[in-house]
Amino acid sequence: MNIEQFYPLFLQSEKVTIDSRKIGKNDIFFAFSGENFNAATLAEQAIESGALAVIVEQKEFENKEKNIFFAHSTLEFLQQLAIYHRKQLQIPVIGLTGSNGKTTTKEIIHAVLSEKFNVQYTIGNLNNHIGVPLTILSIKPEHEMAVIEMGANHQKEIALLSSISQPDFGYITNFGKAHLEGFGGYEGVIKGKSELYDYLKDHKKTIIVNENDPVQVEKTENYSPKITFGKENSDYKFELFSEENFVGIKYDNRKAVSKLTGEYNFTNLCAAVSLGLHFGIDFEKIKNAIEEYTPTNMRSQVVKKDGRTLVLDTYNANPSSMSASLQNFITFEGSKTIIIGDMLELGDESEKEHQNILNLAQELGFDQIITVGKNFKKVNSSETAFESTAELTEYLKLNKILSENILLKGSRGIALEKSIDFI
Ligand code: ATP
Ligand code: MG
Repeated sequence: MNIEQFYPLFLQSEKVTIDSRKIGKNDIFFAFSGENFNAATLAEQAIESGALAVIVEQKEFENKEKNIFFAHSTLEFLQQLAIYHRKQLQIPVIGLTGSNGKTTTKEIIHAVLSEKFNVQYTIGNLNNHIGVPLTILSIKPEHEMAVIEMGANHQKEIALLSSISQPDFGYITNFGKAHLEGFGGYEGVIKGKSELYDYLKDHKKTIIVNENDPVQVEKTENYSPKITFGKENSDYKFELFSEENFVGIKYDNRKAVSKLTGEYNFTNLCAAVSLGLHFGIDFEKIKNAIEEYTPTNMRSQVVKKDGRTLVLDTYNANPSSMSASLQNFITFEGSKTIIIGDMLELGDESEKEHQNILNLAQELGFDQIITVGKNFKKVNSSETAFESTAELTEYLKLNKILSENILLKGSRGIALEKSIDFI
């Protein structure tokens, strides 16, 4: 089956899915082969339950009368179809990558641009070689813009994702110490993330630059078109302020207070406001969007529990986001406990980075430091170093945390949020 022949069928479809449990009427199902996976039966079932077409990667299961088509690689066909679809779309696409803050920035940009446009965007964290094409394929004729999150943990990934999403505007949230293992150190991170810049430069597209980030400045020097913020003579000038631990942004003597905590969210806001202003949205409307957006996804989320303030940042962690998070949390008024979980995927740097974070936490002087995970355990000999969230939970059942403020932050794999009920 070739893409051009298949495209009209795609245009008639409701949505594209790779999950056999989510196939609805008129959907296209991409059957990825996996273990214990009977593509033949699934394909037939999908068609019987109303799917419009199925792509399989086993030649013998092809049945063109039933709209079950063969492709050498389901993944490649999905990506090629997305590229083809993207080429037909005449709308601005905004592409985001970076080590930290992609999802948050994507959500705020979506909130801001939605004040004026019908914007499609990455759902949740579907930011990889499958998620990006699925997001592109979810763009319908009624959409006027799209915001696409692109994640990576090794070289060449952002190049591939950029070739699929073909952004007209691109922003790298930051270059941080995340996925050091896969990228080959910090220099590797810069190179890998900058593949977005390479794409934008090759296609003369707009780069959004935080001029307070020396790497961004260096990488985009003498390039145009770009949209800049952060410095006195940047295109857009914003000031940071905070109100009850929430980050606020000031523009032209007008203010908007977000429901996000953590100073790092200021640059995330700046990027979104810059784009909003660039697309002609009034600051009053942008303010609305920012003030209404509530994170619900364990990213810098603030909740009250038994009169105490809990900061939930359990979605992920790496040395840059951990350090930013601690620096922010220390500014909270009142007593403070931190519960920090391992930062995974750090390779050879792991022990050193965990030690650094522990040192930082001790220097900042929190009232209580609790660590969770084997990596922290190696460097923390205190009684409140636990191997796992399960072990932490056992401790919490017997010991109530009395601090007025409690921060939970750790990598996804540590799942610190499972302890919340016991805090
Ligand atoms: P993932 O790689 O899991 O997709 P992400 O890049 O989408 O992560 P978010 O989920 O938005 O990032 O945020 C994760 C955490 O990173 C936040 O809870 C916060 O602690 C931290 N963070 C957010 N923005 C920034 C930033 N601009 N700089 C540094 N750290 C940040
Ligand atoms: Mg994300």
